[in-house]
Amino acid sequence: MKIQVMKNILGENDKVADENRELFDEKNVFVINLMGSPGSGKTSLLELTLAKLKNKIKIAVIEGDLFTTKDAERIERHDVPVIQINTAGGCHLDAAMVKHAAESLNLDDIDLIIVENVGNLVCPAEFDVGENLKAVVLSITEGDDKPMKYPLIFKESKIAILNKIDIIKFTNFNLESAREDLTTLNPGIKIIETSCTSEEGIEDWCNWIMSEVRQLIVNKN
Ligand code: MG
Ligand code: ZN
Repeated sequence: MKIQVMKNILGENDKVADENRELFDEKNVFVINLMGSPGSGKTSLLELTLAKLKNKIKIAVIEGDLFTTKDAERIERHDVPVIQINTAGGCHLDAAMVKHAAESLNLDDIDLIIVENVGNLVCPAEFDVGENLKAVVLSITEGDDKPMKYPLIFKESKIAILNKIDIIKFTNFNLESAREDLTTLNPGIKIIETSCTSEEGIEDWCNWIMSEVRQLIVNKN
């Protein structure tokens, strides 16, 4: 019985997600669904991304948060449009929430929307919000066992960002085995090592975003 209910929810969500995707396509807007645990560094990564890319492409941010506007306030300082979604305790964003948020954005004046999902390694991966691609941030401090323990999010993502790489020597995180597990789960996955403190890998991440966004524009013309 429970399974049936979940299927209905996801079916309805997929319908709205497809509508979102159609709208974003029509407006030539690329959408990244940025996921990861609380504290993995999603907002810090986003702040560095905005600093590097906001003068190259027009970026807007949709911030998912359980109750607060703390992350949205950090993003606002970078002078880009930001829409806050408070899920009131809900543990993921769904397509209807993103649809509603996008209504407050001027899509004609935006090239890229980055959606920071609610911090959670589980259900954000189950809910398509109409994005072009999913990206997952895994911080070194979370442990190298997380890909195998939470496989869906790593299977669904086009890129895994291994963040806080600057402090790896203080942990027992095994980079080789994490990379191996990620590739086993998702053979095509792109893996980047980053630090938002030393800014290692940030350039690679930003270049990768630019190549993805450009690809979409090329495919359209
Ligand atoms: Mg955050
Ligand atoms: Zn959830």
